[in-house]
Amino acid sequence: MAASHDAAPPVAQPLAPPVGAPPITPPLAPPPGGVPGRAGLRLMAVHAHPDDESSKGAASMARYAHEGVEILVVTCTGGEAGSILNPAMDTPEVRAQMPGLRRQEMARARGILGVGQTWLGFVDSGLPEGDPPPPLPEGCFALTPLADAARPLVRLVREFRPHVITTYDEKGGYPHPDHIMTHRISVEAFEAAGDPDRYPEVGAAAGLAPWQPLKLYYHLTFHKRRILALHQAMLDAGLDSPYTERLDAWIDRAEDTGRLTTSVECADWFPTRDAALLAHATQVDPKGAWFRVPLDLQRAAWPTEDYQLARSLVEVGTLPEDDLFVGIPVSARGVAA
Ligand SMILES: [Zn+2]
Repeated sequence: MAASHDAAPPVAQPLAPPVGAPPITPPLAPPPGGVPGRAGLRLMAVHAHPDDESSKGAASMARYAHEGVEILVVTCTGGEAGSILNPAMDTPEVRAQMPGLRRQEMARARGILGVGQTWLGFVDSGLPEGDPPPPLPEGCFALTPLADAARPLVRLVREFRPHVITTYDEKGGYPHPDHIMTHRISVEAFEAAGDPDRYPEVGAAAGLAPWQPLKLYYHLTFHKRRILALHQAMLDAGLDSPYTERLDAWIDRAEDTGRLTTSVECADWFPTRDAALLAHATQVDPKGAWFRVPLDLQRAAWPTEDYQLARSLVEVGTLPEDDLFVGIPVSARGVAA
């Protein structure tokens, strides 16, 4: 059921630029001869909904794409249940075309980030709200049996052959049932894709060889050290912090200490990240909290995107590391040394 991969850019961009979108910063010129050490590397980023790829790990993806890493974003659901979060876009015409619009928005974001992207084709479970929360809709992604939900991803891993996979932690990063399901199928695919006896219907029977990814990462986008640093930088600059309430309500949990293993410097791609996020025009309010911290202040206070190395089959040396591809041997890349 996996769709064919949508190619990396250039892509058709049928939508007008979103209201309030800043001009897209042209990518920085790569160093002459390309970035050494990136040839042959592949990264798969598994996300729940269109727009998640632009809010979690987007700047580091854009940097890696620029450096020559081949990247495939896998979007598990169509985001059909997403409400319109941009007041300027909340019109009957927009509401009537939501599924198609979200695909167009995704195509635009993909082009901005410089990555390939494909859909798993599952139905958005929606975020159940209320007490007690309503049941999840029948047939949605989060209610799909694990093997059925993971099978198309196992197939994609065997087709695309990533060295590194990124996904969410076991709590989903935030408690959306689709994000937790995305975590579960990513771990399942990481563990199963290299085993010829597992999911043989998307293995030998489909003409696909097993493929074992070497590293699995969880996004750590909204961890406390980063939020505190941005909050303090806003206060120091005499600006209102959008994080005050969040920090006041913050509950420290033992399982969250020590997660940060990897920080990827990517501040030069923060404008690219914001442009990709704004391409999801129905989902993102350009006047919202996302864009309240000035970019120069972000760059000074927290210039990295951060990850937890959850599994590694290669030696990575002393943590923390500053690159998702530390330890991936040249022999695994299919290129000459
Ligand atoms: Zn999401």
